[in-house]
Amino acid sequence: MELLDEREVRANLQKQVTEDFPYPLAVIKANLPGTDKRSLISAVAVCEGYFQLKNKGVRHMFMSYSCEGLIFYLSIDRDIRELKKICVDIETSHPLGRLMDIDVMDTRGQISRRELNLSPRKCFLCDEDAHLCVRNQTHTPDDIDRYILSVFRKYLVADDLATRWQRLFFTALIGELIKPRGYGCVTMSDDGSHTDMDAMLFIESANTISHLMCKAYAYPDDFQKLRDIGRIAEQKMFETTGNINTHKGAIFLMLLVMAGLQRENPVAHIARLCQNILADFDKAQSSHGMTLYYKYGITGIRGLAKEGFRELFEIYYPFYLKHSCDETFLKIICENPDTTLMHRGGIPLYNECREKAKSITNQQDRFAFDAWMKSQRLSPGGSADMLSALILMDCFMWIKEEIEDEPTDKNRHRRYLRIE
Ligand SMILES: [Zn+2]
Repeated sequence: MELLDEREVRANLQKQVTEDFPYPLAVIKANLPGTDKRSLISAVAVCEGYFQLKNKGVRHMFMSYSCEGLIFYLSIDRDIRELKKICVDIETSHPLGRLMDIDVMDTRGQISRRELNLSPRKCFLCDEDAHLCVRNQTHTPDDIDRYILSVFRKYLVADDLATRWQRLFFTALIGELIKPRGYGCVTMSDDGSHTDMDAMLFIESANTISHLMCKAYAYPDDFQKLRDIGRIAEQKMFETTGNINTHKGAIFLMLLVMAGLQRENPVAHIARLCQNILADFDKAQSSHGMTLYYKYGITGIRGLAKEGFRELFEIYYPFYLKHSCDETFLKIICENPDTTLMHRGGIPLYNECREKAKSITNQQDRFAFDAWMKSQRLSPGGSADMLSALILMDCFMWIKEEIEDEPTDKNRHRRYLRIE
């Protein structure tokens, strides 16, 4: 649907929700220009808005995803004026607040900033009323893009290292979720081959684990400590999701990648940390990886870790810098020994899947492959974890290069302003 149709659908929906529930409704969406607002930056901003409001007395909620981007609808048990003040405060003081638009309404309609004696929102770039600059097209799209990227970069840099890593992890996990096609994995727009999970569960899980994983930033040389923090994150993930495995593989992979990124030679460093990791297979534990090891001798993600995730740093990352997220994801599906995929489909179906992925040449093939994966109930979860790690690496390099005052290709990060 086009943006204008989407707006109309939303207006009707909002009206319905305020009639159905006896509370004011807060609607959190991206405050960004353009006719397709789906992007990593808009999704992270809207999620941050949601987590700011989540504990303020939410009685009913749902989310939607369309060309308007991600939107949260929260019925909140508070006085409407008080709620509007809280929302204005988030828009004003959160590091991504400028990129959020939080409307508050009840059956009588929206409450405005003016009704609280507050001035309307200013333009991103000058002192004018935002609506005037939009109407008069005062600023070039380039200037606006640059502003949005600078706001997002500041958010990632943060004031302290734990917060920085929490935001990097969260951004990487949301980035994985907004990939245009899931090929069986959950995305913002569909549940892929899954019946027990959806985007909301992944967003909640990403929030929980990112706040725990970031505590590991200070131990890049201590494998045991990384593993202990990983286990706590995993346990809290299962508590958050009601025992569904949303991010177990991502936790393991991203903690090691974080440790590697903090050292001169990430591959050598991770390989050193993981030199004894295959000894895990001797212990009596059960996981998809373990089962496959016993059955076929496949070492899966542990085998990759032992080699320092060489493919990730030396093949997938350079590829990702030159290609879209979708193309990169397909390349990983073709090449990565994905134990999630092997486990769900068995080895023959796994091989068929990789052959199909390799033969893709155009957009139509991609849609067909996406449909086939869903029909076979396959889900390349291990490859999706790799994609999160690439976004983590890319965002880390973005802030690191600029902190070290090296010239960064500014255009490189424009990919985070759209879906590709
Ligand atoms: Zn302006």
